[in-house]
Amino acid sequence: MADLSAENLAGWVRACAERIHAEAAWLTELDAAIGDADHGSNLDRGFAAAVAKIDAEAYAGPGALLRSVGMTLVSTVGGASGPLYGTFFLRCGTALGEDGAVDAAALGAALRAGVAGVQARGKAEAGDKTMLDAWLPAVDAYDAALAGGGDLRAALRAAAEGAGAGRDATVDLVARKGRASYLGERSRGHPDPGATSTTMILEAAAATLP
Ligand code: ADP
Ligand code: MG
Repeated sequence: MADLSAENLAGWVRACAERIHAEAAWLTELDAAIGDADHGSNLDRGFAAAVAKIDAEAYAGPGALLRSVGMTLVSTVGGASGPLYGTFFLRCGTALGEDGAVDAAALGAALRAGVAGVQARGKAEAGDKTMLDAWLPAVDAYDAALAGGGDLRAALRAAAEGAGAGRDATVDLVARKGRASYLGERSRGHPDPGATSTTMILEAAAATLP
């Protein structure tokens, strides 16, 4: 398996934008049930801006590219999820440093650094019914797949599956962070929008990265 280049990661970001655009109405519907009906439009706007930015510039490497995506998301997505997804990509890019290519272990460490950033910024924990309920099982599944001898593709597939299982498990949870927490018990019975978009982002990685 070849290491990942900046162009490979740009392909992931483009795939995220396409998936989020295609499912923006669904994400907004999920947010209408337990939030304020803007999650799909927020993310669609942000990822479209991120793609425009990476298409317009040349990047020294994968880290610089993801840092730029993070900064664009922070300034364009808005809501709670903008700073959180922005932090994810910024920390991910920072962890990759200035290397010109990234292997499976480095990507795993970067994903984990990004998730730690989301946690530091949003102060949520596992079980609070947020995007972390998808991110945390995803990075654990990624590392387990690598430790078991899997390659990058296998690890990303495992991460996407872990995220999906985490997303599904948010249905039965009561929200303890973010807007949905205002609903208390009434937030139960619905999937968390952020855990749903996180799963899409990881499914885009599994489908796109070589
Ligand atoms: P807003 O809630 O400001 O309208 P969005 O609708 O774009 O922002 O995003 C809502 C999602 O953000 C939630 O579904 C949840 O996954 C995530 N979220 C909200 N607060 C937090 C937090 N403190 N930590 C992690 N994720 C959070
Ligand atoms: Mg919202």
